[in-house]
Amino acid sequence: MKRAHRYDVIVVGAGGAGLMAARYAAQNPNVSVAVISKLYPTRSHTGAAQGGVGAALGNITEDRPEWHAFDTIKGGDYLTDQDVAEAFAYEVIDAVYELEHMGLPFSRTPDGRIAQRKFGGHTREFGKSAVERACYAADRTGHMILQTLYQQSIKDNVTFFNEFHVLDIVIVDGECRGVVAFELATGELHTFHAKSTVIASGGNGRMFKVTSNAHALTGDLMSVVYRRGIPIEDPEFYQFHPTGLYRIGVLLTEGARGEGGILRNGSGERFMERYAPTIKDLAPRDMVSRAMYFEIRDGNGVGPDKDYIHLDLTHIDREIIESRLPDITEFARIYLGVDPVTEPVPVQPTAHYAMGGIPTNIDTEVIRDGNDTVVPGLYAAGEVACASLHGANRLGTNSLGDLIVFGRRAGVNAARFAAASPYGELPKTVQDYTHELLQRLRHGLGKEKVAHIRKELQTTMMDHASVFRTQETLSRQVEILRELKERYQSVGVEDGGQQYNTELMEAVELGFLLDNAEQLVHGALNRTESRGAHSREDYKERDDDSWLKHTLIYREGDGVRIDFKPVTLGKYEPKPRVY
Ligand SMILES: Cc1cc2nc3c(=O)[nH]c(=O)nc-3n(C[C@H](O)[C@H](O)[C@H](O)COP(=O)(O)OP(=O)(O)OC[C@H]3O[C@@H](n4cnc5c(N)ncnc54)[C@H](O)[C@@H]3O)c2cc1C
Repeated sequence: MKRAHRYDVIVVGAGGAGLMAARYAAQNPNVSVAVISKLYPTRSHTGAAQGGVGAALGNITEDRPEWHAFDTIKGGDYLTDQDVAEAFAYEVIDAVYELEHMGLPFSRTPDGRIAQRKFGGHTREFGKSAVERACYAADRTGHMILQTLYQQSIKDNVTFFNEFHVLDIVIVDGECRGVVAFELATGELHTFHAKSTVIASGGNGRMFKVTSNAHALTGDLMSVVYRRGIPIEDPEFYQFHPTGLYRIGVLLTEGARGEGGILRNGSGERFMERYAPTIKDLAPRDMVSRAMYFEIRDGNGVGPDKDYIHLDLTHIDREIIESRLPDITEFARIYLGVDPVTEPVPVQPTAHYAMGGIPTNIDTEVIRDGNDTVVPGLYAAGEVACASLHGANRLGTNSLGDLIVFGRRAGVNAARFAAASPYGELPKTVQDYTHELLQRLRHGLGKEKVAHIRKELQTTMMDHASVFRTQETLSRQVEILRELKERYQSVGVEDGGQQYNTELMEAVELGFLLDNAEQLVHGALNRTESRGAHSREDYKERDDDSWLKHTLIYREGDGVRIDFKPVTLGKYEPKPRVY
């Protein structure tokens, strides 16, 4: 029975969230654990994370978890669920020490403690001044986290199925019973029967043209569950990171501004002083990205077309740049031929992070509606999930924190559920849907090319649904997506082979991306206010009376249905965001 597998807990994805979940599930002696990943684990995007993981250790100056919780809620423009932010800010401290004990080589203070630096939106005493909260390993923090967790998972005897693409989820009588996956090496389908399934498959930035995200970030599971009746929460909140390398989008960490880097417009002015007088260049990302576009629109950009901004590090000691920011220095030199030690670096906002995703409660259980109805046996954590820690805008360093806190919760809870539950039955037809999906693509008309549709998707999403949006651009994008989906029906795959058919997988991934774009655009069109990363030029104000609520988008027929879920408020009253 090579192509049918049974594990008590399966984890989809081997990034930080997936490996953390697998490790913690494997601590439970009563359960077997397998990880399924379309990439070799250490190639997951977590390995590209640069700047740091935020935790109020207070190693440089005094810090407190309640300040961290407050910053997260305010940074999220009050769409953050406050119970989630509070639990997070406390647990992430312990989770960082745990990574240290697993052997993660953090950068150090002179007296040997974990080094910390400033990052956007992280402050002391509820907004008084910037605080050093980001724990880092030079600008390779994610790489170190991923390597450390992978080594630990091997030690814990977790079984890995690498280069397996999960293409469907098995939901019977409202319960999750596993997944169906495509093995890249052989072209065969495999059924994974499980008591608990943890989804940790990362983000979807590849729907945009200029992005910091790796090629594999195509939102697969956000589409897979959506096709099976589970909604997506808050997809309209998509973060643009201010400092992507001009035109190519490769990321330069916010840690560069944490170390003192400054953004300058075409006249050399430090324009963030006008937009965020207290914390200036370290304002949250949504505000900085918008400010950069305002400067460009007003003719204050840099370059012959005045269409970018400068990130200036030239006043910082060479030694600090090279020891604390070695990778990004290299990126600027290689990709743009610019040396950050002596010249300012051309940057522009780049599509970076999905605040929304598969809805979960605070225990990482996936929920299917606005009443928090749980899908038994299904968990989600990491960028693919939306426990609503990040609300309408994520603070830098809070994603790595999210992975370790909620990845751990998912592993523990999934294992506990599995240990107490029998295996549900699998339908005989379990692979039929996936089989037909692949057959359609293999034998498609071939009139359309995947690469063409993908390019159009990415360009139009950038033009109509990125940092600024209006009724007009979004309605136009709804139409474009309808046409692209129509055309997608006639794509064909030229490679008829079974083994390593990456062309076939790219075609499947394009279908996933189109679903992700549909979720985002409908959410954005529906939300007639501006909040966090969602900025409507025709509805410029935040509107708490009508919109202090989460979006839930369901697929219905050929279209979508939109519902809502209340925000969990707490001790922090929604206030205007001033920095
Ligand atoms: C360049 C860059 C720098 C960043 N820097 C920081 C930072 O300094 N601090 C911070 O907090 N955040 C940072 N972020 C954000 C953060 O790194 C990500 O949000 C986070 O790493 C996502 O982790 P994850 O475990 O959810 O998913 P990923 O690490 O993306 O892993 C996804 C996993 O899912 C698997 N997968 C996906 N689809 C399928 C499928 N269909 N079948 C099987 N497997 C599948 C993949 O193989 C992979 O193993 C950065 C992001 C980028 C892009």
